[in-house]
Amino acid sequence: MHIARDRRVLAFGAHPDDIEAGAGGLVARFAAAGARPTMVVTSIPNRYQKRLVEAREGAAALGAELVLLRDDASSRVEDYEMHDLVHRYEQMIARVSPDVVITHGPSDTHWDHFLVHRATLAALRRTRCDVVLYDAGPPIGSRLRTGLFIDIEPVLDTKLSAVAAHATQFSAAAVEGRREAARAIGASCGLRFAEVFEPQRLYA
Ligand SMILES: [Zn+2]
Repeated sequence: MHIARDRRVLAFGAHPDDIEAGAGGLVARFAAAGARPTMVVTSIPNRYQKRLVEAREGAAALGAELVLLRDDASSRVEDYEMHDLVHRYEQMIARVSPDVVITHGPSDTHWDHFLVHRATLAALRRTRCDVVLYDAGPPIGSRLRTGLFIDIEPVLDTKLSAVAAHATQFSAAAVEGRREAARAIGASCGLRFAEVFEPQRLYA
């Protein structure tokens, strides 16, 4: 994947903390290259004010712009009709005109994450851009054999501080768990620290 200043990057997450946990290193790599990624958080399911602050801190740590699909109250991804969710994502895609889209993968057992995955692909059906898929939790085993590995060693501390911003979701030990996960993914591909993605489509 070509990581450069001139690439327009759009990341989708079901909840605050998903992008940071699953793709924070890649987003931070783009930001470090001079790009200004956009992070779309689809819903804040609970503790609205507190998690809103966390979402802002997480995006700021990564160097990304935060967009909340709904910015006035707690909600669930399932509150949206699928056609409405796809339409809202289409509006984001029209606004950002992305070269790269980062979104949830299809194997995620969290239903909200799967809905975001489906809605993103539907919204992208007429858009030519790179699309890579992440796991918000530990990556599934097959990904470690066939995935797209991203070196996140230069931005590891940035990613972990963005994850740590979500204090309602990640204890200090859980943040360290993310460091160890990055180390384990790296160990499977000859890097010190890595994230792994499923390439849905790659043009550049
Ligand atoms: Zn989530």
